[in-house]
Amino acid sequence: MLSNVTGLICRECGNTVDMIAQNQCDVCFGPMDVNYNYARIKKLVTKKRIRKGPANIWRYKEFLPAQTEKYVDLAPGFTPLQRAERLGEELGIKNLLIKNDTINPTFSCKDRMVCVAMTCAIEQNFEIVACASTGNLAQSLAAYAAKSGLKSYIFVPAGSNEIRLSSTNIYDPILLGVKGDPSQLNKLCSEIMLNSNWGFINVNLRPYYAEGAKTLAYEVAEQLDWKTPDHLVIPMGSGTTMTKIHKGFQEMVDAELLRHARVTFNGVQSTGCSPIVKAFNAKSELIQPEAPSTIAKSLAVGNPADGYYALKIIRGSDGLAVSVTDKDIRAGIKLLARLEGIFAEPAGGAVVAALGKMAALRHFKATDTVVAYITGAGLKTPDIIKDIVPKPRIIEPTVDSLDAAVAAINRAKHVPGAPDKE
Ligand SMILES: *Cc1c(COP(=O)(O)O)cnc(C)c1O
Repeated sequence: MLSNVTGLICRECGNTVDMIAQNQCDVCFGPMDVNYNYARIKKLVTKKRIRKGPANIWRYKEFLPAQTEKYVDLAPGFTPLQRAERLGEELGIKNLLIKNDTINPTFSCKDRMVCVAMTCAIEQNFEIVACASTGNLAQSLAAYAAKSGLKSYIFVPAGSNEIRLSSTNIYDPILLGVKGDPSQLNKLCSEIMLNSNWGFINVNLRPYYAEGAKTLAYEVAEQLDWKTPDHLVIPMGSGTTMTKIHKGFQEMVDAELLRHARVTFNGVQSTGCSPIVKAFNAKSELIQPEAPSTIAKSLAVGNPADGYYALKIIRGSDGLAVSVTDKDIRAGIKLLARLEGIFAEPAGGAVVAALGKMAALRHFKATDTVVAYITGAGLKTPDIIKDIVPKPRIIEPTVDSLDAAVAAINRAKHVPGAPDKE
């Protein structure tokens, strides 16, 4: 198959290389991106052709770096874009839509990225893929490695929570607990990358991995019947997802799928790890790395690789970057579950809390369509909500006892979400 991909290109200096596993430019150390033949894409891609494609990320294959159609395919993506009337009413946002990425094969948006990177890793003849993660990335990598038959190595700090790791371990990767501090773990991974032919899914394979996040843009546009929304609210760790959603919208304009890409990009972090938001508030371009301390582990990236670019996109589109506390995040998780029936992990709680903050600042106009990205499912982190959910009322196995309980509940004028008062 003729490919739409021409190789890799440095985002800063434009230096190009072949389709190899390399995330940093040899010349200027800038980030490497996948380079496409856009003239060819424009000729190939049509709304009709997309509509006929599979109900997953590969319906946008023209925009993705796979060279063959031998996808490592657990069919991630094409998740619902749901109208959130009740949450919107609560927060004062008239046209609120939720991109529900809790519905993915391993229950987070990472599936989009890992699926693309794993497919490219196989095309580039990698036999071993790896990552350092205890969270969504590890789960996703382990699952796609299982599907493809590649060997996967997952590095975690020795002493990581075993219950949390079980949802990774179940896919049977090789799991290694590394003693020492996180910097030693990272150093070990760098040494392996230099000295052996391993594909680190979010490091040397990062250009391919990151491209998967563009599908979060294509899907929203298609699901809005090829209209551009007014606002996006995006959780940020490394800032890569934000950067690639932006790129996705630009590409759709270039390919004449969208008329314009005038969309405001708003970013969300946890106060316990908010280097991008701090730079935004300081009106600085400089991201100061920090040591994370937050329940939002999936956003806890102390030194965000794409922070600088995410910041530029937010500022360039008149967006906001806000941070929310762990308490706000828990409340956001509960609000989303209670009003929309969607159970999110902390990244989703952070987005909901941030929506409230932005609405209070009158950041959205009444006519604006606001799309909130809910990127991971709550069952991943049950420990986080155990203290904010009510315990069952204990009753006797009799109708009388039930009636008495119902009467007590009604007398207490049960406020949904509040703990019952006896
Ligand atoms: C990885 C991740 C994100 C976004 O992270 P970036 O590093 O900014 O791309 C958001 N939500 C969840 C649940 C994630 O796992």
